Amino acid sequence: MPVLERIRDFAETMQAWRHDLHAHPELLYDVERTAGFVAEKLRSFGCDAVVTGIGRTGVVGVIRGKGRASNRAIGLRADVDALPIQEVRDLPYRSTVPGMMHACGHDGHTTMLLGAAKYLAETRDFDGAAVLIFQPAEEGGGGGEAMVEDGLMERFGIESVYGMHNIPGMAVGTFAVRPGPIMASTDRFTITVEGRGGHAALPQNAVDSVLVASHVIIALQSIVSRNIDPVQSAVVSVCTLEAGDAFNVLPQTVTLRGTVRTLSSALRTQVRARIETLVAEIAAGFGATGVTEFGGSYPVTENHPAETVFMADVAAAVVGEENVDRAVAPMMTAEDFSYMLERRPGAYMFIGNGDSASLHHPHYDFNDAAAPYGASLWARLIETGLPLQA
Ligand SMILES: [Zn+2]
Ligand SMILES: [Zn+2]
Repeated sequence: MPVLERIRDFAETMQAWRHDLHAHPELLYDVERTAGFVAEKLRSFGCDAVVTGIGRTGVVGVIRGKGRASNRAIGLRADVDALPIQEVRDLPYRSTVPGMMHACGHDGHTTMLLGAAKYLAETRDFDGAAVLIFQPAEEGGGGGEAMVEDGLMERFGIESVYGMHNIPGMAVGTFAVRPGPIMASTDRFTITVEGRGGHAALPQNAVDSVLVASHVIIALQSIVSRNIDPVQSAVVSVCTLEAGDAFNVLPQTVTLRGTVRTLSSALRTQVRARIETLVAEIAAGFGATGVTEFGGSYPVTENHPAETVFMADVAAAVVGEENVDRAVAPMMTAEDFSYMLERRPGAYMFIGNGDSASLHHPHYDFNDAAAPYGASLWARLIETGLPLQA
């Protein structure tokens, strides 16, 4: 029986898991219930090992194939955390936690990997080990980095690693991938412009930090338009501006916050340096000081060429070549699976979520019809990548 049919046989079970996870969202590393749910399911499938507490609240399941010729291992990663967003739809399985919901579909990602685990533990038609990685804190917490720093790759002998994200607007039953950068780096910045506060009627005695910050904001928009090769991609966005609280006082300090996104580490270094220079020197020109601090960074998610072709070939075997886009445009959002791809070769793929609201929108919901496709891709990736010896 083709893998897709076999997994479709328990699609209703997967849907029940997904709805349970959806009703009980958890944030960042505080995913105790979700991690417990995952570990309990993995044990019930008969996984050879279930290890909790990796990268604080990450869970790893290991399934050994019936072949014993190799000790190779492939890692498959799902993220498990939700978002601080109030759900608005009145779904029967709607979030039971006020102000929190699965608005990025990580409940679906977790379900698809559990579906593959159930299938692989039953069939075991491969030689080596499937390492199932359930990662916390994708939404800004760097859980991918935490698991890598906790020795994920070494402890489980992972030789290559793969990830997947649902994409609203892409048809169910389709996949998309590309070699090289598929998602951007992101760096949060905080700029502090320090002038000299004073009376609004006596500007000659002050250094107007609001005016200086305004020049800084305008100048930052020259980086992408004037310093970057036009065929490369970068975004500089100033997203908050905090200054003063009176009509008649020139404030001492202005704080700007925003993000930089790029599709290459060289560009990332270049843009960061330009921001620091513009901020410091524009401020100095006005007699103020300007300081830039960076934090909350994710590197570029960079697909490795051979593993990208392999993953696309597996997808084509499941859904047909006509349903696989091998050269999808990259996205300027970021993803902490990038830390895993820095340590091991692998690839990150998009899976169609059909006609749903966009990611991080309060109307969003993962499409249960997509789950058998994702679970089948994971299962076939293991069977193809770790074939039984003749
Ligand atoms: Zn997200
Ligand atoms: Zn996500």
